[in-house]
Amino acid sequence: MADYPPEITASEEARLTEVAKDWALAHGLTVRPPPAVIAAEADPQSILATAVPVTLFPSPFPKVCFEQGVAVQKAYNQLYASISQDEEFLARIVKEIGGSDDFISELWEVHLRVKEEGYVQHKSLGLFRSDYMVHQDASGSGPQIKQVEFNTIASSFGGLSSQTSQLHKYLSSTEYPLIEKPISRDSLNLPPNNSTAGLASGIQEAFISYGASSTGHGKCVIFLVQDGERNIFDQKHLEYSLQSSTDPIIPVFRLPFSEIQQHTRIADGAGRQLLYKPPHLRAHTFEVAVIYMRSGYGPGDYPDARAWEARYHLERSAAIKCPSILTQIAGTKKVQQVLATPETSSNPSTLGRYLSSSSSSTLSALASTFTNIFPLDTSEAGLKARQIAADPELSKGYVLKPQREGGGNNIYRAAIPPFLKSVPEAHWPSYILMELITPPAVRNTILRNGKLEQGGVICELGIYGTCIWDQQAKTISHNEQVGYLLRTKGDQSEEGGVAAGFGCMDSCTLV
Ligand code: ADP
Ligand code: MG
Ligand code: MG
Repeated sequence: MADYPPEITASEEARLTEVAKDWALAHGLTVRPPPAVIAAEADPQSILATAVPVTLFPSPFPKVCFEQGVAVQKAYNQLYASISQDEEFLARIVKEIGGSDDFISELWEVHLRVKEEGYVQHKSLGLFRSDYMVHQDASGSGPQIKQVEFNTIASSFGGLSSQTSQLHKYLSSTEYPLIEKPISRDSLNLPPNNSTAGLASGIQEAFISYGASSTGHGKCVIFLVQDGERNIFDQKHLEYSLQSSTDPIIPVFRLPFSEIQQHTRIADGAGRQLLYKPPHLRAHTFEVAVIYMRSGYGPGDYPDARAWEARYHLERSAAIKCPSILTQIAGTKKVQQVLATPETSSNPSTLGRYLSSSSSSTLSALASTFTNIFPLDTSEAGLKARQIAADPELSKGYVLKPQREGGGNNIYRAAIPPFLKSVPEAHWPSYILMELITPPAVRNTILRNGKLEQGGVICELGIYGTCIWDQQAKTISHNEQVGYLLRTKGDQSEEGGVAAGFGCMDSCTLV
C-alpha cells in the first residue's frame, strides 16, 4: 500500500476535516477542552466538549502483527491473574524496586495492613491492555509485535476506540470512495472493534459474580475518577454500555477519589460490605459490588495520609476491585522486566511457572512479544545496563522508565545519562532500561483541534483483555480478549499519550 493513504487536494482536506469533526462531536468521540484552548471563564459550567484528535484515515497495520496480539491476549490475562496471586513474587518485586519509590512502598503497606486483618473479597477483576509496536529487524524475517507495556490499572481509551473504528468505517463508505484518488470500500480491511461493549461486559460479569447483596441495599458499580478528568467521555461510553443492561440492571455512579470517605462506609459486621450513599439521592444507599478505578494509579491522587486511608478503606472492603493493590503492582514495569529477562539458572522460567497449563507454543508466542529490558541494580545484567545508561552513544537506543503510569514519566535516549547522574545511585534500582522499538514509517494525517498535521507517524497497538479470578481458590472464571486500540503519534514525538496531547486516536486497516 505504497500509495496509501492517497494524497488529497486542499478542498478534500477541508471536506474530510469537516465530516470527521462533526461525526466525532455527534458520536461522543470527544474530550473536555484543554484549559489552554478554552478559558475557564468562557465555560464556567463545563458544558463544552471538543473532538478528540484522530487520523483522517485508518493507518495500515500488518495483519500478522494484529493477529499475533489478539492471539496472545488470553494467555497474557492468565499470566497477570497468576502473578497477582503470587504475593511472594510481588513482595520480592517491591523489595527490588526498593524504598526509594515511596508510592510503590505505600501501596504495599496498604496491602500488608489488609492482609493482616484478612481480605474478605478474594475475587478480582482485571481490565487489561497490552500495548505493542511493530518491530522489523534486519534479518529479513517478517514484522513482529513487541510489547511496550502491560496495563493493569485504568487502561483507558476503550470507550473512544470502538467509536474511532466506527468513524473510519463511516468515512470508508461515504467519503473515501469519492476523493480524486478514491479508496474503494473493499480495499480496506477494518477489523471489528468491540472495546466498549467488551470492557463493560467484564465489569458486568464481576457485578454478577459478586453475588447477592447481603445488606438489604441494592448493588451498584462505582467508577472511581479524578476531579476535572478531561477524558470523561471515554469513561461515559463504558457507563452507558453497562447501564444498557436490563438483566441485571446495573446502577453506576462516579465517585471522585478525593471523596471516598465522604460518601462511603463499611457496613457493621464481619462482611465489610462497602456502602455508598450518592450525595444527590437522600433516600438511597447502595452496596458496592465493583470498584472500577480510573484514578489512584499515580502519586497525584494521594496528596496526604487521608488519601492513603481512603485506598485502604476500599481495599479492605468486600467490593471487587479493578484492580486490587496486588494487581496494580503486578502491572509495574519492574514485573515486565523480570518476565522479559531471559531464562538463566538464577531465574528459572517465570513464564512457565505461571502458565504451567499452557502449551509450549503459547509460551513461546508470548515470549516472542518481549523485547530486551534490563534492571538497573547491581546484578550482572544491571551493571551492564548501568554502562549503557551512562554512555551518551549507547543510551541512544533506549528508554528509561520509572514505576509510573499515565504517560509523560519516561526518559529517552541521550537524556538518560545526565538524568541518571542527577538521581542518587541508591535509587537507580527503581528504574528499568528498555530497548527502543523502532516501527517502520507510516504516513497519515492527524486532525487535532481543527488543524491538520501531515507526515510520518508511529502507531501503538493496544489489545484489551478482561479477566476475573479468585485469589484464594486460584481459579479463573472469566477470560476474554475484547477489542483493540490504535494510538498514533507524529514520528518526532517520543511519548504517545492522547490525553497528554502527544498522540491521537486511530484504527487499523490490516495489510
Ligand atoms: P505509561 O505507563 O506511562 O504509558 P509506557 O511504557 O507506555 O508508559 O511509555 C509511554 C510511551 O513511551 C509509549 O506509549 C510509547 O510511545 C513510548 N515508549 C515506551 N517504551 C517504548 C519502547 N520500548 N520503544 C519505543 N517507544 C516506547
Ligand atoms: Mg501504562
Ligand atoms: Mg503506555
